[in-house]
Amino acid sequence: MNSSTPFDKEYLVVGCGIAGLLFCEQLLNAGRSFVVIDGHQPSASKVAGGLYNPVVLKRFKAVWEAKTALAMAKPVYRRLEDLLHAKWLYEDAIYRRISSPSEINNWTTAADEPELETFLSVQFKSNTNPYLNADFGFGEVTEGGRLDIENLLDAFKSYLLTEGILIQENFDYQQLSVYEDRVSYSDRTYKHLVCAEGMGIAQNPFFNQLPVQANKGEYLKISAPDLKLEAIYKSDIFIIPLGNEQYLVGATYNRFDQNPAPTGEAKAILLAKLGALILCDYEVIGQQAGFRPTVPDRRPIIGTHPQFSMIHVLNGLGSRGVLHGPMMANMLFNSIEHQMDIPLEMSLMRYQELF
Ligand SMILES: Cc1cc2nc3c(=O)[nH]c(=O)nc-3n(C[C@H](O)[C@H](O)[C@H](O)COP(=O)(O)OP(=O)(O)OC[C@H]3O[C@@H](n4cnc5c(N)ncnc54)[C@H](O)[C@@H]3O)c2cc1C
Repeated sequence: MNSSTPFDKEYLVVGCGIAGLLFCEQLLNAGRSFVVIDGHQPSASKVAGGLYNPVVLKRFKAVWEAKTALAMAKPVYRRLEDLLHAKWLYEDAIYRRISSPSEINNWTTAADEPELETFLSVQFKSNTNPYLNADFGFGEVTEGGRLDIENLLDAFKSYLLTEGILIQENFDYQQLSVYEDRVSYSDRTYKHLVCAEGMGIAQNPFFNQLPVQANKGEYLKISAPDLKLEAIYKSDIFIIPLGNEQYLVGATYNRFDQNPAPTGEAKAILLAKLGALILCDYEVIGQQAGFRPTVPDRRPIIGTHPQFSMIHVLNGLGSRGVLHGPMMANMLFNSIEHQMDIPLEMSLMRYQELF
């Protein structure tokens, strides 16, 4: 191994969606050398709404590991803002429409729970917007917000390109050689291979037996000049302000449709839900679809291959990559570098019998 070779680094990371990006951030923060290969497969992160919301608003439950994940996420996104000299994280309020008086009671009861008290405000907001249909007003979720994930990804990849450490091509597993203490790919050697491929995991011969399943999601982009929302609103759908009088409206969930194209069916569902919440004119100006990498037990999968100690996985971020990604990337990094244990509920080892 020639240490002066440009691609002769400690880590090779496959995939630069939010999972790969966040693992790279750990590497940058710790001063590790790395190269990223990111191909032309579809990316869920590119079409994600970018929300981080610590509460499951249908059931008034805290999201799994919400407090720890939030505490770990914000400093990471702030570091990325410093690195890339731009703002990506918007700590916007999330207003959930209250649909009946009994929901006010349910909300108030939930807000007393220790796991929710910091996230659910008990000051309800009456509706002052003539274009929102919300007779009972809104409850406010605090500590949520939005990551401008699409622009963050673009800026991060530009940064990697400038540093000469991003290869934009599909990773070909036929070209990978695995040794006891290293891997080699395209005549370069690396100490570790980290696979962060989202649904691209289906083509990964080391991890394609893991139960990562595609859940198709679709968003609409609308222009609604009269709406004038400055926070995120939620009824059966989220409305996320993007600026310039534009909003994202979504998202759908579909485990059965494996076709990547946006559908008329999803559009109709989203428009029906939107029509129940807003009362002004709008124009649909876009629609996009992607596949969330989900796991049946709704937990991410991180860890090291049981037979190959240099090969690691970071996947299964499901519908909450923005919130859980930083914590998962940090845990995987600490497991590789400092042999810290990964709790079984998020570890690859809960699927050990598949290897
Ligand atoms: C419509 C929709 C809305 C969503 N909204 C939100 C939201 O508001 N908040 C939230 O937190 N989450 C949201 N999600 C979920 C979120 O998108 C995922 O949790 C997250 O994007 C998963 O990131 P990932 O990096 O694991 O996968 P991906 O984003 O899919 O990234 C995988 C990357 O790996 C690359 N790749 C794959 N295979 C290879 C290969 N062989 N060689 C080279 N490169 C490869 C791909 O090109 C891609 O760049 C949404 C998802 C969808 C579909």
